[in-house]
Amino acid sequence: MLAAAARAVKGKLGRVRDGTVRRAVKRVTLWRFRVDLALTRAIRRARGERPYRLGGECRRCARCCEAPGIQVGRAVFHLRSLREPFLWWQRVVNGFELRSQDPRHRLFVFHCTHFDLATRTCDSYDSRPGMCRDYPRALLWQPNPEMLPGCGYRPQDPRASSLLRAIDAQPLTPEQRERLRKGLRLE
Ligand code: SF4
Ligand code: SF4
Repeated sequence: MLAAAARAVKGKLGRVRDGTVRRAVKRVTLWRFRVDLALTRAIRRARGERPYRLGGECRRCARCCEAPGIQVGRAVFHLRSLREPFLWWQRVVNGFELRSQDPRHRLFVFHCTHFDLATRTCDSYDSRPGMCRDYPRALLWQPNPEMLPGCGYRPQDPRASSLLRAIDAQPLTPEQRERLRKGLRLE
């Protein structure tokens, strides 16, 4: 039943595996994305911002492929002349169809046409966009990162080792230590 529904959805939304041209375009875009990301994060570090560390590992549950979201700047979200080319690019190059939007966070939420609901796999994994490769690292820069339910990754405080030593030096019960470790994201 689920497989049949997935096939119907797949047909309706037109899943198309990346061909040579799209792969080439995405490769160039990927390098631009990497340079942009490295520069942005270097600037944020230079300003004194410190992201959480990435703990845990990917469980390959594919939850992050169910509704990929992109947060954009004010101009792209509100100006039609920028918004339309942006959404066109996402649709034609990345295979992301706009599903909904959240004006408060300037967030576009997409349906990824490369995602196979039945097998929960990506049909163009080798040429997936930079944001899919980076996930969930962008979240680590938020004040209180929340991973998707079931995600095997977890944010870890960058001062975890010294805080753990400080906690261990305190006269606390095992339950209190455990609560502090979890609350302060030290595990
Ligand atoms: S392109 Fe692939 S990895 Fe990225 S959201 Fe779609 S299915 Fe997931
Ligand atoms: S939600 Fe987390 S664990 Fe699941 S595939 Fe994405 S990164 Fe991996």
